[in-house]
Amino acid sequence: MRIISTAQSVNDLTHALGRASGLGGVLVPTMGALHTGHKALIEHGRDLARSRRLAAGCIVSIFVNPTQFTDPADLARYPRTLDDDLAICEQAGASVVFVPDVETMYPPPPSEPVVAPPLPAVATEPGLEDAHRPGHFAGVCQVVLRLFRLIEPDAAVFGEKDWQQLQVIRAMVAEQRLPIDIVSHPTLRDTDGLAMSSRNRFLSPAERRAALAIPKALRDAQGKSSVADAEAAMHRVLADAGLSVDYAVVRDAASLGPVTRGAPARLLIAARSGVTRLIDNTPLPEPT
Ligand code: AMP
Repeated sequence: MRIISTAQSVNDLTHALGRASGLGGVLVPTMGALHTGHKALIEHGRDLARSRRLAAGCIVSIFVNPTQFTDPADLARYPRTLDDDLAICEQAGASVVFVPDVETMYPPPPSEPVVAPPLPAVATEPGLEDAHRPGHFAGVCQVVLRLFRLIEPDAAVFGEKDWQQLQVIRAMVAEQRLPIDIVSHPTLRDTDGLAMSSRNRFLSPAERRAALAIPKALRDAQGKSSVADAEAAMHRVLADAGLSVDYAVVRDAASLGPVTRGAPARLLIAARSGVTRLIDNTPLPEPT
């Protein structure tokens, strides 16, 4: 496994592989603080690269992207665990780990500025992430497009854990006409049902117990047949646990707009346990 950190080293590796431009391979973009959920994405990327016979293999990027944080305190306390992350990448079969610094991702003048692409419409559906974290998806699109242009992967793997992000990236790739397959991977959960997240480490034992209301709310809502009943069920469970709720809604799974009859729907939650903001989601079978 190679560990590289500069645009020049990406280009050197590209040439060593005998390619004119772009490493190719399967990219797994992350912000580090890797856990078993990330490991599953990397293993999936490794298998995909093997099956497609991509010489670059699976490339993991680790970069805590400042432009997608809407709260400076959140950025400052984001966990950084590079040694452990590299061990997980190695175990999961990554071929390359790209660990750039801020100047590599956003080169200062006189270099061309790295601008955010136009935000896809799906990113700004009312009441969701963009309403609560304005500018977040602009930063995500900016950094992912920068990674895509540097590495030119054949495919990139994203987790369903960040369902809205997955839809935004799919839309951005379509709008920018990039020849990159966006591959999704299901959410990994701890045995108690909580979706794995780099932020779970901030939860006290009591906050973690309260946070279990999030997967419970999703499970309860899955048993409801109407959108209104599903949303009411989620709010009831989250309020009983004392969580502060940003949203608990049912939306069209792809457009993130209102549910459309006969189309897949998704239950989406963002809520805080203590000061830690958590997101989760799951499908809702055939709501009325
Ligand atoms: P992050 O570094 O946490 O922003 O996430 C990097 C990638 O891992 C994103 O595509 C996430 O959706 C994905 N991811 C994060 N947590 C999980 C999880 N529990 N299960 C599956 N994928 C995840």
